[in-house]
Amino acid sequence: MSKSKLFIMGLSLILLISCSKNNKIEQTYFESMNTFMKVQAYGEHAKEANEAAQKYIGDLERIISATKAESDIYKLNHSENFPVQVNAQALSLIKLALNMSEISDGAFNPCLYPVSSLWGFTKKQYRIPSDEEIAEKLALCDWKKVQITNDGVIMEPGMQFDLGGIGKGFAGDEAAKKMKEFGVRSALLDLGGNIQIIGTKPDGSDWTIGIRNPFGDGTIGILKASNVAVITSAGYERYFVGEDGKKYIHIFDGTTGRPSESDLVSTTAIAPSGTYCDGLSTALYVLGLERSIELWRKQKNFDFILITKDKEVYVTKRIASKFSLDATQGLTSKIVK
Ligand code: AMP
Ligand code: MG
Repeated sequence: MSKSKLFIMGLSLILLISCSKNNKIEQTYFESMNTFMKVQAYGEHAKEANEAAQKYIGDLERIISATKAESDIYKLNHSENFPVQVNAQALSLIKLALNMSEISDGAFNPCLYPVSSLWGFTKKQYRIPSDEEIAEKLALCDWKKVQITNDGVIMEPGMQFDLGGIGKGFAGDEAAKKMKEFGVRSALLDLGGNIQIIGTKPDGSDWTIGIRNPFGDGTIGILKASNVAVITSAGYERYFVGEDGKKYIHIFDGTTGRPSESDLVSTTAIAPSGTYCDGLSTALYVLGLERSIELWRKQKNFDFILITKDKEVYVTKRIASKFSLDATQGLTSKIVK
């Protein structure tokens, strides 16, 4: 055999080995931020990348948790003297959260912890508070009073941050960055239903994401997506049924101090940034259909899948061809232009 033939055969073998290594999916399951997480990645160093992602998310939780006494956010929430210095990660997330409050005209409010605690969501000891109690706690929820200075965060004593509406999206963004440092170019991070996608699948095709059915089991349809975050807020995630028989969900309306009662039951935001999508998904839920469409028309830098109480599914035109509604579920879809 000629030298050149041998060389080509050798090269093909190396390519074959490296391809098969890259095409093996590596899956890691763990629990963090009060939810189950699954990270799956392709690449020679996928296993190390997944472990780095898991470690990063665990570390972040210890910094931004509102309930863990050692966290920076807990210390900020329980301080009586300001400014309070917080870790750089926590500070950058606080800034991003407040930015989302600005964008969404306060529908996203990361300072609702006094109110959600009152309703028992922080300790799972649910109850319906009186109007007076709600008014008293709501006075402590004004995100516009927060100031970020060079010396730290300033707010009024009694105010408390809750980054639960944006933290998992931020975790997805940052964990994905860590994974890329390990050469990962194809991965899907499922952080309790908050999806962050790196690249396409190794064969160049889109990943398939199921959109959960807010009215029952299974999914209402699928979305094909690459290189974006796909993040859903929904009333089915956490709620309680009061003595009055009504359902009270974990997403709050900062104007009333009560669980949101908008016309939406599931809001999915799609854009490259997980932080942005997570904040948005919560905001859209509170805003309701009409104001969500208004926000989209103004921003134009994200897409959505919104499901109304009346079983209508609103999908932005840019992703409409990538979304397939399951016709057996009794929902109808509309394209938003
Ligand atoms: P998500 O599932 O991303 O919509 O986040 C819901 C969580 O965000 C809740 O469990 C609360 O911790 C927090 N939250 C509730 N209401 C709001 C709101 N209006 N704005 C920001 N965060 C909120
Ligand atoms: Mg959110």
